[in-house]
Amino acid sequence: MRILVTGGAGFIGSHLCERLLSEGNEVICLDNFFTGRKQNIIHLLDDKKFELVRHDVTEPILLEVDQIYNLACPASPVHYQYNPVKTVKTSVMGMINMLGMAKRVHARILQASTSEVYGDPLIHPQTEDYFGNVNPIGLRSCYDEGKRVAETLMMDYNRQNGVDTRIVRIFNTYGERMLENDGRVVSNFVVQALRGQELTVYGDGSQTRSFCYVSDLVDGIIRLMNAEAADIHMPVNIGNPGEFTMNELAEEVGKCVGREIKIRYLPLPQDDPKQRKPNIERAKSLLDWNPKVPLAEGLEKTVNYFRALIDSPKATNTKA
Ligand code: NAD
Ligand code: UDP
Repeated sequence: MRILVTGGAGFIGSHLCERLLSEGNEVICLDNFFTGRKQNIIHLLDDKKFELVRHDVTEPILLEVDQIYNLACPASPVHYQYNPVKTVKTSVMGMINMLGMAKRVHARILQASTSEVYGDPLIHPQTEDYFGNVNPIGLRSCYDEGKRVAETLMMDYNRQNGVDTRIVRIFNTYGERMLENDGRVVSNFVVQALRGQELTVYGDGSQTRSFCYVSDLVDGIIRLMNAEAADIHMPVNIGNPGEFTMNELAEEVGKCVGREIKIRYLPLPQDDPKQRKPNIERAKSLLDWNPKVPLAEGLEKTVNYFRALIDSPKATNTKA
């Protein structure tokens, strides 16, 4: 198949491109390099089945493909709040452009949605039928509401135009190729611990998240893209239900790095969700999917990646 991956030079996108190529597909990776890097996909550039297109999804583009994975969108709060108007445009106009393409060429399309559509959830764990508790006017809204409109567009193009759609709600995912200065909690803690710095815990560290290792996530979204079922167009949670407070995560990172860690408590950002854990019954029954990599194992791989990056003489996180 010929497959388009938007945001393909980013953290998750680069792992997805790699997997799709290894399964014998042709892959077109489209990215504007806002948070993605050529370095992430440089090892794929010699593959005849791989093509890289520098393009912004907010602009229309004509391509002929069989499947579209729409991942283009900054995911770290630091990055999506850098230019919030652009974040909304990326989710909404990007989604319309990709759905227009899917409609024109009869491609199947998967949207990378997020657990953020549940906002600061009042039910726990979160099931797909929960409508969420999202602030429409806060600092996180450009991301949360952008992704919610993207889901609406997916459902309406499906109902109105018969576009073959899939929606994955991704819970916190981590692993190799996260940016060193990404701002998300796993990369922050790992980099701080490796440098012997204090770990920055926001708030009192009692808020929880559930962390999914990137290979499990990629496996889940490929399964969803290729699954068939009567209700397959409805959203599916993909995440690891193992739930940790940020204080517990800091301890886990300390153990993995092999250092005594010190914590610096900083103010909690606005609208920071207090708890988050996926109910994955739907993914289990529809996709026969279960995460395999526990936090300690995934953290070890992530620590090894950042250790090599930090120890390297060219230790940079600059864009290629
Ligand atoms: P990332 O920031 O590493 O990747 C996003 C990619 O999209 C980058 O390569 C970036 O350059 C590209 N991009 C951004 N705006 C673009 C635009 N206008 N046009 C073209 N390319 C653009 O983030 P990630 O963690 O790999 O996330 C990938 C997707 O998964 C995102 O849609 C994100 O919202 C979703 N997601 C991720 C997580 C997570 O924990 N990593 C959780 C929920 C949802
Ligand atoms: N967080 C933290 N220290 C950091 C970065 C983040 O304590 O250096 C917290 C953040 O306040 C949130 C959790 O870790 O409660 C997860 O944050 P992240 O930005 O990784 O993801 P999201 O909030 O989008 O789930």
